[in-house]
Amino acid sequence: MDCREARELFPAHVDRELGLPEAIEMDRHLHACPQCQEEFMEQSRVRAAVKKHVTYYHAPGDLAARIATALPAEDRTLASSRRREWRWSVSATWLGLGGALAGVVALVWSALLYQALPSADEMVGDQIVASHVRSLMASHIADVTSSDQHTVKPWFSGKLDFSPTVGDFTELGFPLVGGRLDYVDHRTVAALVYRHRQHLVNVYVWPSAVHDTGAVRTQSRQGYHLVNWAGGGMAYWVISDLNAKELMQLVDALRGQAPKAG
Ligand SMILES: [Zn+2]
Repeated sequence: MDCREARELFPAHVDRELGLPEAIEMDRHLHACPQCQEEFMEQSRVRAAVKKHVTYYHAPGDLAARIATALPAEDRTLASSRRREWRWSVSATWLGLGGALAGVVALVWSALLYQALPSADEMVGDQIVASHVRSLMASHIADVTSSDQHTVKPWFSGKLDFSPTVGDFTELGFPLVGGRLDYVDHRTVAALVYRHRQHLVNVYVWPSAVHDTGAVRTQSRQGYHLVNWAGGGMAYWVISDLNAKELMQLVDALRGQAPKAG
């Protein structure tokens, strides 16, 4: 993939719509090309800003009930029986209901769409899964391969605007494999790679303004376990196909390390 091809695909990549082979090619190019990397970050920032400042309208809670009451009787029956069909029924009949009601229906429709938007955590989770799968499939698990934390940590300096803590968890059964740069949540992040038996674990770290509530969120998607939390001004996302119980041993160790250690 050259610069021209990469830039043509930026809008799709920003929206995470590229297929896996193209996404891998794109990652390779971004790793190798600082100009495109800068341009891509800029487009990502614009997208994030638009998303942050767009105006959503919340419909009052009783609005759906009032619309249901205003509908003809047969539609009301549908409303009470099956909500999904009710929505279609509303959109199918709104042309005949006059301008005012049409506006109200449009409001409800946007409210329903708004509720269907994924949360920020879900969107980041999607990116983490995609990044993890790519790192395994592209055989590009690490930019710096070393089991020595004192080799991996300095490698990041100058490549990131923060310094991730790189812990040594060999005694726990999680030797360090290495580290690499990755792109998650519209920024360059550190990806630390640990191994447990034949399982690889990606630990993503980046600065975060999210308040450290002590909450650890776990989820499983597509056969992978994901764990995320905020701590010491950083966001942490851990992902692996390792079973949840053993993965939590590493999570506990990561959460226990002092921010300045490593
Ligand atoms: Zn380029």
